[in-house]
Amino acid sequence: MTIQKNISLKEFNTFHVEASAKYFCEINDINELESVITDSRFRNEQKLILGGGSNLLFTKDFNGIVIKNNIGGIELLSEDEESVIIKVGAGNNWDEFVEYTVSSGFNGLENLSLIPGTVGASPIQNIGAYGVEVKDVIKSVNGFSLDNYEMRTFSNSECKFGYRDSIFKNELRNKFIVTSVVFNLSENRKVKSNYEAIKNYFSEKNITEITPSEIRKAVIEIRKSKLPDPREIGNAGSFFKNPIISEENFEKIKSDYPDLNGYKVDDNSVKISAGWLIEKCGLKGRRIKDVGIYDKQALVIVNYGNASGMEIKNLAEEIRDIVLDKFNISLRFEVNIL
Ligand SMILES: Cc1cc2nc3c(=O)[nH]c(=O)nc-3n(C[C@H](O)[C@H](O)[C@H](O)COP(=O)(O)OP(=O)(O)OC[C@H]3O[C@@H](n4cnc5c(N)ncnc54)[C@H](O)[C@@H]3O)c2cc1C
Repeated sequence: MTIQKNISLKEFNTFHVEASAKYFCEINDINELESVITDSRFRNEQKLILGGGSNLLFTKDFNGIVIKNNIGGIELLSEDEESVIIKVGAGNNWDEFVEYTVSSGFNGLENLSLIPGTVGASPIQNIGAYGVEVKDVIKSVNGFSLDNYEMRTFSNSECKFGYRDSIFKNELRNKFIVTSVVFNLSENRKVKSNYEAIKNYFSEKNITEITPSEIRKAVIEIRKSKLPDPREIGNAGSFFKNPIISEENFEKIKSDYPDLNGYKVDDNSVKISAGWLIEKCGLKGRRIKDVGIYDKQALVIVNYGNASGMEIKNLAEEIRDIVLDKFNISLRFEVNIL
């Protein structure tokens, strides 16, 4: 394993912003991870574990060691009529793993097709799309504690999963490195096709026999039509989380804007679309130099060329302030700002 100094991170983040790392290394297995973490040269250095860089924004150089996670391997632990238990190395590419499960007939992840990034990052913000969250199929998460340098396993309930949230983003932020994730899939699990965009896709195409591979195909097509490809236009997907507001506030806004839709989270709370709020503020498509709000999806902030991380963050803060001013709702960032 080579430790490099003063490395550009531009190709390691999907916003493609310039920032450098004081130290940088790539690890391929747990032994390499352990040896870099316990190396006395880096004991007091800040550490950043990096997957695909698709959910973070560098606003300055990283004054510490960036550890790029390439831990591979897929191990089938057990398989019976009820379930298929698979242990997957954290550095595996997420969508390649989803493709593998769908082509093997292991159901449960097809709705999460084409999300960029690594398997190890999937539990961090409990990735979700098209009516499924990864917590629905995670059995446990294995990793390395930076507090006591020991391996630890978290069961699904110990991960404290929430909407784009988990223990790893809160109490254990920067204190735990995921090395593998164990999934509980099934050959018999029913497909989830009741999400509006998926339903419309199948009815337009007159498809009635809905299989996991049809769902994967649908999700890929829908996502490609709505979201910018980070290889072409820098972005990190949704910049903001969808806010959860009180039923009372929801009714109040809806009386002024009848086109507002909501998704009931519990008896008194409704999740609404952050993209809708941004659009209603007239911000969709706005561009300042190389930073813009994507014209097909207002939730996505894009780097059209040479925007800096600070410029992107400034626009995000401006959007947040404008939405707060108009709707009295405070949007929260989904992207990790560094
Ligand atoms: C076009 C596009 C579409 C997207 N669509 C979705 C979507 O539909 N749903 C969704 O939920 N997300 C979506 N995202 C966001 C992103 O792809 C996911 O959050 C993904 O899981 C991030 O993976 P990554 O490997 O790139 O993580 P990184 O960006 O490298 O890291 C993200 C955070 O997780 C930490 N981290 C990464 N790996 C580990 C590890 N092994 N152990 C501990 N901490 C770790 C990092 O330190 C950082 O804080 C989208 C992004 C893009 C660019």
